[in-house]
Amino acid sequence: MKYKSTRGSGEIKNAAQAVIQGIAEDKGLFVPESIPQLPFALEDMKGKTYREIAFEVIHRFFTDYTGEELQRCVNGAYDDKFEAAEIVPLVEAGGAYFLELYHGKTAAFKDMALSILPYLMTTAMEKEKEDKKIVVLTATSGDTGKAALEGFADVPNTEIIVFYPNEGVSQVQERQMTTQEGQNTHVFAIRGNFDDAQTGVKRIFNDSEFADELEKLGCKLSSANSINIGRLIPQVAYYVYSYAKLLEKGAVCAGDKINVVVPTGNFGNILAAYYAREMGIPINRLICASNENKVLSDFINTGIYDVEREFYLTNSPSMDILISSNLERLLYHLSAGDGAAVAGLMESLEKNKKYEVSEGIKTGLSDFWADFATVEETNASIGKMYAENGYLMDTHTAVAYKVYENYRKATGDETVTVIASTASAYKFADSVAASIGLDIEKDGFANVKALHEKTGVRIPAGLKGLETKEIRHRDVLDKDEMKGAVRNSLK
Ligand SMILES: *Cc1c(COP(=O)(O)O)cnc(C)c1O
Repeated sequence: MKYKSTRGSGEIKNAAQAVIQGIAEDKGLFVPESIPQLPFALEDMKGKTYREIAFEVIHRFFTDYTGEELQRCVNGAYDDKFEAAEIVPLVEAGGAYFLELYHGKTAAFKDMALSILPYLMTTAMEKEKEDKKIVVLTATSGDTGKAALEGFADVPNTEIIVFYPNEGVSQVQERQMTTQEGQNTHVFAIRGNFDDAQTGVKRIFNDSEFADELEKLGCKLSSANSINIGRLIPQVAYYVYSYAKLLEKGAVCAGDKINVVVPTGNFGNILAAYYAREMGIPINRLICASNENKVLSDFINTGIYDVEREFYLTNSPSMDILISSNLERLLYHLSAGDGAAVAGLMESLEKNKKYEVSEGIKTGLSDFWADFATVEETNASIGKMYAENGYLMDTHTAVAYKVYENYRKATGDETVTVIASTASAYKFADSVAASIGLDIEKDGFANVKALHEKTGVRIPAGLKGLETKEIRHRDVLDKDEMKGAVRNSLK
């Protein structure tokens, strides 16, 4: 399987090269030249473990990794650092199935891909005889940063550098990052929002002079954001796995369609569901749930992507994003691989802050359904779900559940539905505690405790004792200081 750029330059890479490089030379994103079919019949999926499915799905895409190499990556990633024995539990509540993707080390779904990315990257470096140190640059809206830091901490021949928005993450998220240990970890707060951080990182990637300077230092940049294909592909596995679990539970028969609802920010997670569908998982509708930063749901409903709008800080901060990187990959697939057209749209986005897609792409978008939830609706949704079903959702998952309810009302569609449950409620303890009727303390850590006392839901190990851990990273930068910060980190 080869990888091409979404912007049509004709650059061709194998998977290992694409994983190391992160972003294509023409600024596009790497995409597989075709989407492979499932390696097994649907009815044969029953009883397979997460590791078995992850191995087989990823191997279909990353064919240049040997079976032995990839098995090592999968076994290293999906082991007992996950606090759920089955890695990804599928839990029924309130008329839907919640695919709990947050039982890894940092209590968000980013662990699903970032537990394996360091293995995929170091294996790729061996395969490609890459002798430079890989410097992994990461912009985060809160969860990617910590998951990348955990994944890459003290991995030989790598440095991990994370930029997060100074006032755009929860207290728990921030403390997870600023207490990160490891010789090769670097964390910076940026005065700005996530889009500023992501744009700054992309600018550094596209700075060829800086690349030359780094080359002289024996370093090469890569990415742990979902622009890296090594992050996207492992995520396809859990949608395939969810179908295996539904079969086992008798909720569907092989071939029955399901809907998938995804709380969406950078469009990586829902794109992975789209890939699972293209591989042969019978998915009826892909339901895209936004918070008040609803640029994506507007896009899916109109075909117009327009970032010239107000930016809101919500209580689902990992979705406070206006420039959604992975949408570029969907545009590529829906335009039948028309790289020139995609490049044109991205140029328009940069210059005019908006674009409108062709009729062909609009037709392709009809497999999606999209809506958004306000902060008030999100909180009400958490409260109602807890009161009626005793099930605790985090704010992002609650956005998805609310949008799912809207979908059912609007369409009457009662197809079995999987909701991507993307974080532990404890990461957003203030909002969740208030939503289930607790009195809120100013200190987020007190709310973690109160939430636990009230609900009895286990606190993820990675969040325990955070309030007393030593803070190791304190730098706050302007966004034009990011390049200097990278330079200093490598000294
Ligand atoms: C990153 C994140 C999202 C958004 O996922 P995308 O792949 O960026 O669309 C949703 N919820 C949580 C908790 C996240 O960390």
